[in-house]
Amino acid sequence: MVYDVIIIGAGPAGLTAAIYASRARLHTLLIEKSGCGGHMTVTDQLENYPGFNGGINGFDLAVKLEEQAKDFGAKIIYDEVTNIEDGKIKRVVTVNTSYQTKTIIIASGTHIKKMNIPGESAFIGKGVSFCATCDAPFYKNKNVAVIGGGDSAIQEAIYLSKFARNITIIHRRASLKATKILQERLLSYSNISVIYDSVPIEIIGKDVVEKIKIANIKTNNVEEVKTDGVFVFIGLLPNTDFLADITLDNKGYIVTDENMNTSIVGIFACGDVRKKHLRQVVTAASDGAQAAVSVGHYIETL
Ligand code: NDP
Repeated sequence: MVYDVIIIGAGPAGLTAAIYASRARLHTLLIEKSGCGGHMTVTDQLENYPGFNGGINGFDLAVKLEEQAKDFGAKIIYDEVTNIEDGKIKRVVTVNTSYQTKTIIIASGTHIKKMNIPGESAFIGKGVSFCATCDAPFYKNKNVAVIGGGDSAIQEAIYLSKFARNITIIHRRASLKATKILQERLLSYSNISVIYDSVPIEIIGKDVVEKIKIANIKTNNVEEVKTDGVFVFIGLLPNTDFLADITLDNKGYIVTDENMNTSIVGIFACGDVRKKHLRQVVTAASDGAQAAVSVGHYIETL
């Protein structure tokens, strides 16, 4: 059988594309590697998603989007896409099988960037974490370091403050990158402090994390900060390794036009995986809607 559209990735972009494509009565298959929702499933509160004054839990929103897509008729399967092949009829190759389709929407999102310093990999699960909502309860009344100065680092540091005794944010610049409302909010937490102009160079411990070694980039001074945990939030990298011929930017994000067309006709991209300025759940949803509508227009021309 040949699908009208195969969507790769079930984050907010892919799920929204599935809702729009199914409502347009396109025969829609959504392929997801792990679980629906993507990064937002580990976000405690999305307080800037329109319509939910006071915030909505990221996992809860993901469940609602998944139900909505299924109710309109989208089929969701769990498998990992390893390749896509262009042609009049395109092929999406997965670990287990392959599927035929007239069009493809890539909504494969991003994965967490690592620091790649000694101790980081060795202490994963023993003090190093990339998810505050998953691991914060293990740090009740303990001291933790949070690495990064963007929205994720500040939002997660605030979440950790409900559990940990003291949180030290370590940021490589002289000022934070996070949105102003998060920076303002940070000031009201007496148990959160920030060390600026500093980069982690080693995570140290015997069986579990005991210290993090940091270097001041202005003075070259090296110091060790005692900590029970290191939470790393230094950004995201695009999931584009499985793509061979599509044009990417110099950071690996997919280049599209405003209608989500990629460099290959009939292949579209949406959400965090594409080159753009603002990566939010609301912009992912917007991209997904546009991608599905563009698919509809393209199929009419076939
Ligand atoms: P960002 O890329 O925005 O921030 C990454 C931070 O880590 C920056 O401060 C960066 O420093 C620092 N950093 C990068 N590499 C290293 C390194 N090797 N060592 C030390 N520090 C490093 O990533 P986020 O995960 O915070 O956010 C990703 C996207 O998701 C953004 O678009 C963000 O707006 C969005 N988001 C939105 C939220 C919301 O609206 N509530 C919540 C969470 C994320 P530098 O500044 O020097 O580059």
